Amino acid sequence: MSTYVTANPTTGVTDREFPGLADNEIDGLAARSLEAFESWRRTQVAERAAILSRTADLYEQRADELASTITTEMGKPAKEAAGEVQLAADIYRWYADHGPDLLVSEELDPQGAESSIVQTAPIGPLLGVMPWNYPYYQVARFAAPNLLAGNTIVLKHASICAASSALMAEILHDAGVPQDVYANVYASSDQVAELLAHPAIRGVSLTGSEGAGAAVAKVAAENLKKSVLELGGSDPFILLDSADMARTTTIAARARLSNAGQACNSPKRFIVLDELYDDFVQGLVEKFEATTVGDPGDSSTRMGPLSSISARDTVADQVKTAVDQGATLRTGGAALDRDGAFFQPTVLTDITPDMDAYAEEIFGPVAMVYKVSSADEAVALANDVEFGLSGSVWSTDTAKAEEVADRLEVGMAYVNEHGTTLPGLPFGGVKRSGYGRELGRWGLGEFVNTKLRRTA
Ligand code: NDP
Repeated sequence: MSTYVTANPTTGVTDREFPGLADNEIDGLAARSLEAFESWRRTQVAERAAILSRTADLYEQRADELASTITTEMGKPAKEAAGEVQLAADIYRWYADHGPDLLVSEELDPQGAESSIVQTAPIGPLLGVMPWNYPYYQVARFAAPNLLAGNTIVLKHASICAASSALMAEILHDAGVPQDVYANVYASSDQVAELLAHPAIRGVSLTGSEGAGAAVAKVAAENLKKSVLELGGSDPFILLDSADMARTTTIAARARLSNAGQACNSPKRFIVLDELYDDFVQGLVEKFEATTVGDPGDSSTRMGPLSSISARDTVADQVKTAVDQGATLRTGGAALDRDGAFFQPTVLTDITPDMDAYAEEIFGPVAMVYKVSSADEAVALANDVEFGLSGSVWSTDTAKAEEVADRLEVGMAYVNEHGTTLPGLPFGGVKRSGYGRELGRWGLGEFVNTKLRRTA
């Protein structure tokens, strides 16, 4: 039995322990999820929607408790934590409001029969494997559409988020989701594989690293089960021109340092035309140096610690390797001289294709700035990584920026904004950033049976 141990990244002190799932509980857990599915799928859609609506209300009513739990558990600054709680509430409410219409059967031309109807039916118990960077949002975008569709869920959250995952389960149950329709489990990776191989489980959605995604997708494939993967990214932010460089660098810094840089769709590579490059680098360095890094519970803090000491050490190693390989460190580059998982906002330049940093994702407050001489060169550089999550193009010439955005190999291309996430917009990537989509009507379409009923 694996135990989940949580530590407060602000202090580095181990906080709480949570007993893990026992191996001999797996069979019963999967069987109960399947049994619960048989009644949940027959619950009226309107009733399932009402439960999601109550979930949204409870998120809002318990916002302070939810926000402070993740601030303690993974170091998110209080204001950002409150924003994440609201986003999760918005997602539950969006599916409550719009989901039922999206599930209505479609009548096709009967073509000689009496009727030809396409129904959207649930497929059964699903496994969710979720990461720590947005504990509530990541679960909401999986749980809301699937609970609405009539699927049941076994949820394995990141082990460092044991308290917030328990709180989410409690809120869903308080809102009316039956116990076995949503089960929160503290499972190990081996137990995830065993659960996924269990005949009762019909599919898996994972958000996290490429390694975890590949491991889980392999088990899903061996057992012929559907998987959705939302993995990493090294998103480009392409700057073609700027009417206001101070504003552009403020936006760039805010986007990169949000959540201490630990977002899959954070802009990680800033690709700047040569005539703007010096001003951009100078402005970005100033904004990074002016960022208040400190206790995430303090309202004046702009950036808190990374999620764990090991996450901080990984980022420190990546930056050191980049510098050892010849990159220029413009600011930052080291852990803060204090307890906890703090790392300085860091700007790197002069990164070349032979360096590790060119190809890998840096999951922390590190911006890499590249100089290019044309929009064509910017597109080639942007696409020259194995990731393809999102990207943005910035220009006063919107038409030109849209033309460049259309050439990006990404799942989400933005013009003059980066990373906007709304419940009704699709979220997901291409290449090694994963496959499948979350949110909006697309998120509702991943784990359903598009079922034909034709009557002669
Ligand atoms: P992981 O991918 O290890 O963790 C994400 C989730 O997957 C957690 O619930 C984790 O469980 C679980 N997991 C890990 N390995 C397996 C496995 N073999 N089988 C089943 N489940 C597994 O992310 P890390 O926390 O290690 O972060 C490492 C990197 O992942 C980051 O630097 C970043 O590149 C990427 N990442 C991307 C995210 C995104 O939003 N796309 C979010 C978080 C990370 P447990 O916690 O118990 O290990």
